[in-house]
Amino acid sequence: MAVLAHFQKLQFSAFLLTRAQPPLSSLSRQFNSTLCSKLYRLPALIRPQSALSAAEPIPVSQLLEPPPPAETQSPITLDKLFIPPETQVSLEDPTTRVLKGSNIVLSKYARDAQVVQAEFVKSSVRTEDCPSDGSPEFALVGRSNVGKSSLLNSLVRRKKLALTSKKPGKTQCINHFRINESWFLVDLPGYGYASAPHECRTDWAKFTKDYFLNRSTLVSVFLLIDASIPAKKIDLEYASWLGQNQIPMTIVFTKCDKRKKKKNGGKHPEENVNDFQELIRGYFQTTPPWIMTSSVTNQGRDEILLHMAQLRNYWLKH
Ligand code: GDP
Repeated sequence: MAVLAHFQKLQFSAFLLTRAQPPLSSLSRQFNSTLCSKLYRLPALIRPQSALSAAEPIPVSQLLEPPPPAETQSPITLDKLFIPPETQVSLEDPTTRVLKGSNIVLSKYARDAQVVQAEFVKSSVRTEDCPSDGSPEFALVGRSNVGKSSLLNSLVRRKKLALTSKKPGKTQCINHFRINESWFLVDLPGYGYASAPHECRTDWAKFTKDYFLNRSTLVSVFLLIDASIPAKKIDLEYASWLGQNQIPMTIVFTKCDKRKKKKNGGKHPEENVNDFQELIRGYFQTTPPWIMTSSVTNQGRDEILLHMAQLRNYWLKH
C-alpha cells in the first residue's frame, strides 16, 4: 500500500516536472508559435475577491490584451504558465482560465476548494511519526517571519489556529492540521533564524529534507517567499534544493500588500516576484506554479485553495 502510494507520488512529481506540452489545436499552435515570445500581462493587480465563489479566474485570451499603463504589473510569456496535468491550453477557448495574481491555469480538477472544517491533529518529530491515513497533504515552509502563520490562519479563516505550531516544543516539529476531514495542511519549521547556532540550523535542514524526500502523501510543498523585500540567499538555496530534488513546489509570494518601495529595499512586490523567478529558473525543468498573496487583504487566498484543490483531486484520482 505504502509502496503504491509512493509510486503514485513519483508519477505525479515526474508529471509535474517533465510534463510534455499539452496538445494544442492547430490554430492555437499557430498562435503559440507566433506569439509565444510576446510579453503578456498576468492580471496580478486585479482586486482580490473575498469569497471562493467570486474568485473568478481570467480567460487566457485576456493575457494577450494590451496591458494597462501600470508600472507595477508583471509581464509573463505564455511558456511561463503552469499548466496542470490533463489540461489543454487554447488561446481561443474562453474556458481556459488563469488564477488571478498567479501563473496557474485552472483545470477540470478545481472543485471542492472551500475550507469548512480545520483542526490541529499532531506534532511529529520524524517523518515516520506523521499521520498515516494516506490523506494528501500540502506543506507550508518559509523563512521565519515570512508570514506563514498568518497565511495558515487566513486559509482556514481561523484567527489563531496556527498559534498551535508556535507553542513551545512545537516550532521545530512537523505540525499536521486536518482540513474537511479529508486532507492536511502541514506547518513545517521556519528556516533562517539568524540567532540559531549553525549546527542547529543544519539539523533543521536535515529534518525537513527527510520529510520532503520520504513523505509519500506530500502533493506539493508551498514555499513562502516575502515579496516585499528582495530575494534572500537562503530562500534561493531552498528553492534550488527543491527543484534539483524534483520535489513538486508552488511558490507563494507573501506580503504583496506592502508597496512602499523605499522602505522595502527599493522594489515593488511584482518586481521582486519577477526577480525571484529569474534567479531560480535554471533549477527547474518546467516553470513552477506561483501565486501572489497577502494575509492583510486576503489576496490569493481563494486562488491558493483552488490550486490546492486541483492538485489534490488529480493526485487522488491517480
Ligand atoms: P511566521 O513567523 O512566518 O509565522 O510569520 P507571521 O505570520 O507570524 O508574520 C510575521 C510578521 O509579518 C507579523 O508581524 C505579521 O503581522 C506580518 N505579516 C504576515 N503576513 C503579512 C502580510 O500579508 N502583509 C503584511 N503587511 N504583513 C504581514
